[in-house]
Amino acid sequence: MSMYQDQKAIQLTPQLREYLLQVGVREPDLLKKLREQTANMPERNMQILPEQGQFIAMLVKIFNPGRILEIGTYTGYSSLCMALALPEVRITALDKNPEWTKIANKYWQDAGVSNRIELTVGLALDTLKTFDDQSFDFIFIDADKRNYLNYFEESLRVVKANGVILIDNVLWNGRVIDATHDDPGTQAIRKLNDLISTDPRVEICMVPIGDGLTIVRKK
Ligand code: CA
Repeated sequence: MSMYQDQKAIQLTPQLREYLLQVGVREPDLLKKLREQTANMPERNMQILPEQGQFIAMLVKIFNPGRILEIGTYTGYSSLCMALALPEVRITALDKNPEWTKIANKYWQDAGVSNRIELTVGLALDTLKTFDDQSFDFIFIDADKRNYLNYFEESLRVVKANGVILIDNVLWNGRVIDATHDDPGTQAIRKLNDLISTDPRVEICMVPIGDGLTIVRKK
């Protein structure tokens, strides 16, 4: 039996989450509009939740990075959260899909932040390799899971010392502990979680918000 068995963390029921959203999240209108538009798309589950968006925006406000890198932009919700969080911050956004990022671009323009977001459409790993060491202060990883280990290693290279890397979907809807799931994406997330748990290069904090978000600080 686990030594943590007697300690109870709260289980977020749908009703309790509803309450959290009501009293704990202030979602700007434009983000709400983007979320509603994305809700009609088949890949809508790739979008972060509003409570996550607010959490990441709060981290950005507290940490005050100059340059942010986002790996996996989708329709732009998280990048818009981060751009709105700080008036000066510059974001480099990577995604392979021109249709999704067309929507992102429209919302960045509507919000007046498009001049601070530089999007590269293509394979993120190829683009990552073109960046110099220690170019970024803050990185958000939320692209294809099969490449998570590669994204993490490249992120460690391009982030500054004491910089932050956020990794989304680290609990992967529970599949990380479900032996019936063994697809390449699930395997990659498990491998990365295992690696990070003892990686001497970083400090970590795994947060059970949304689908699980690990905050990594490079030493
Ligand atoms: Ca995600």
